[in-house]
Amino acid sequence: MPSLPVTPAAKPLTGPQKALHKLGLVRPIDLALHLPLRYEDETRLLQLRDVSEGDVVQVEGRVTHAEVKLGGHRQLLVTLDDGSGTCLLRFFSFYPSQQQALAVGNRIRVRGEIRGGFAGLTMMHPVVKPAGGALATALTPVYPTVAGLPQTYLRQAVQSGLARTDLPDTVPAQYLQEIGLHPSWHLRQALFFLHNPTPDVSLDTLLDHSHPAWQRLKAEELLAQQLSQLQSRRARARLRAPVLAGAGVASLFARLLAALPFQLTAAQQRVVAEINQDIARAVPMHRLLQGDVGAGKTVVAALAAAQCMDAGWQCALMAPTEILATQHFAKLVAWLQPLGVTVAWLTGSQKAKERREMLALIASGQAALVVGTHALIQAKVQFKQLALAIIDEQHRFGVAQRLALRDKLASQDLEPHLLMMTATPIPRTLAMSYYADLDVSTIDQLPPGRTPIITRVVNDARRNEVIARIRDQLVQGRQIYWVCPLIEESEALDLRNATETYAQLSAALPGVQVGLLHSRMASPEKKEVMRLFVAGQMGVLVSTTVIEVGVDVPNASLMVIEHAERFGLSQLHQLRGRVGRGSAASACVLLYATGDAPRLGEAARERLKAMAQSNDGFEIARRDLEIRGPGEFMGARQSGDALLRFADVIEDAMLLNWARRLAPLLLDLHPDLAEQHVQRWLGSKADYLKA
Ligand code: ADP
Ligand code: MG
Repeated sequence: MPSLPVTPAAKPLTGPQKALHKLGLVRPIDLALHLPLRYEDETRLLQLRDVSEGDVVQVEGRVTHAEVKLGGHRQLLVTLDDGSGTCLLRFFSFYPSQQQALAVGNRIRVRGEIRGGFAGLTMMHPVVKPAGGALATALTPVYPTVAGLPQTYLRQAVQSGLARTDLPDTVPAQYLQEIGLHPSWHLRQALFFLHNPTPDVSLDTLLDHSHPAWQRLKAEELLAQQLSQLQSRRARARLRAPVLAGAGVASLFARLLAALPFQLTAAQQRVVAEINQDIARAVPMHRLLQGDVGAGKTVVAALAAAQCMDAGWQCALMAPTEILATQHFAKLVAWLQPLGVTVAWLTGSQKAKERREMLALIASGQAALVVGTHALIQAKVQFKQLALAIIDEQHRFGVAQRLALRDKLASQDLEPHLLMMTATPIPRTLAMSYYADLDVSTIDQLPPGRTPIITRVVNDARRNEVIARIRDQLVQGRQIYWVCPLIEESEALDLRNATETYAQLSAALPGVQVGLLHSRMASPEKKEVMRLFVAGQMGVLVSTTVIEVGVDVPNASLMVIEHAERFGLSQLHQLRGRVGRGSAASACVLLYATGDAPRLGEAARERLKAMAQSNDGFEIARRDLEIRGPGEFMGARQSGDALLRFADVIEDAMLLNWARRLAPLLLDLHPDLAEQHVQRWLGSKADYLKA
């Protein structure tokens, strides 16, 4: 068991203590593992003649001039002279006491970033102390923090955590040598060093995490992650699951396959076989099915469901939005109802009567397949015998929700099989080595007959040309999506954006049915708009990103994305995947606006360029990694539960492979060390991560 901190119930937490908890810094070891972002050098004083712009420095000197300048911004201007040069200190807010400390003639020590400017060297709001104090003996760490948690408090908390933890090594020395780590870098040494580095160290190796102390920490972190996933894989291997075995010629599986209006692609056939093999075993499946948008994951899910139903069990399919669930439902009903399957349907907005009927169908087992939103995991929903849970767009769900669906199997000693689907793929090799706890199936091929989508990046100033293009498409009987951003912090503003565009397009396209869809609308309204668009009765659909995932209207051939510069790369790719689903040539227009800036920022430009250059989700994912950096990339895919803090799965691929090899050895040969290691790194989070 992790040693939980003893917090006397009577004493309420102070502000900074609460902030510590918010950061997850609860146990002494959590504090010890909270590592600096960067360092400040307070070990030496520099001469002003030796500094240059951008340096963060500490200097001592005498105040030779001080004045409060009024008019415009009230500010305090102070000139500091250290004998080698002068520097102008600027303060935009200051107390009388600070003004006193900065009086002419005083000797002071200041620390801050040097800036240029026509007045010569300048510092804005430097830290000021009296001159002559002792110099630090180690670099001063700067930690990641949150509001209400000052660095000085955090530093003390970390040092105290470090002093209070026992840090025996959990990784036997012989393994560390495999990654070139000198045996003297014990965990304890590495941590002490990173919290108090000596001034002679190369700052670069600390900042880019290439220093041996950092290597040690990253190797440890990756090992913890691999161990924890391997533990849960092994734990699951001991569980039993319903055997959903092989189907004959008269089976639902075979009949569905025969009734489909298309042939499966080779990639689809391969993943169907992988899934079928898994669920035919008495061990719960834990598989991620990844495939680009439009790769055809739904039919794979339907075939898995068919095999499940053939064995006499129920299957549930959960989707993150009502619109998406509706689409899945429609498609599955169209495929399976003619074959005699009753498909039930559950969502939050359902009428009470309908819901009661559905619950009854599910409880009696009469509905062998159930499609729905989060409504599926509510306590009232009781399956007769659930054996297969399929989760679409799994990254949209939290861990708890995924677990809840798995817990719907009533039996004490059986677990359902779990199939998770995602259209935001990560490169296959990365997926294989990172997800020690998941088997990964990849559909790496699109169905034939798709014409590639042409993507154009267009300045918003040319909006009218885009509207003319919409007219063209409408004349040809095509439909158009127009997507507006919806970013939570400015929801009101974005809503205005969508409604204004809606009004503009309605006016510019007389006689055309233009629809508006956004997240603030009531569910029946949304459904009606979607129904009209799917039925082809609506020419243009203006929408915020509620259509982001899964919507399938093959007749839509043009997508305009407004303020494309505000979207993330994978989100743009998801959106674009809504067109190009039929055989007509399709296009995507990325409208961008620079606002008051002369041009777009670097990252936004890179994103739009990547979109124009590639249609391949894996390639887009790779570019996304380059532009954003892997930490953020993986984090986003874990719906907030970022797993790695220090290591970087791309840059530290060597360490990742080492951890992957070592994890099973450690579990077999040194189970106590393995357990201690996982507890140390993941503590109370360990169970959570196993979901
Ligand atoms: P996604 O993987 O994005 O969920 P869908 O399952 O929605 O993709 O499939 C996209 C479209 O392609 C659907 O209209 C589907 O019926 C169709 N489709 C799927 N597989 C094939 C195939 N092998 N050949 C032709 N069309 C297919
Ligand atoms: Mg889909």
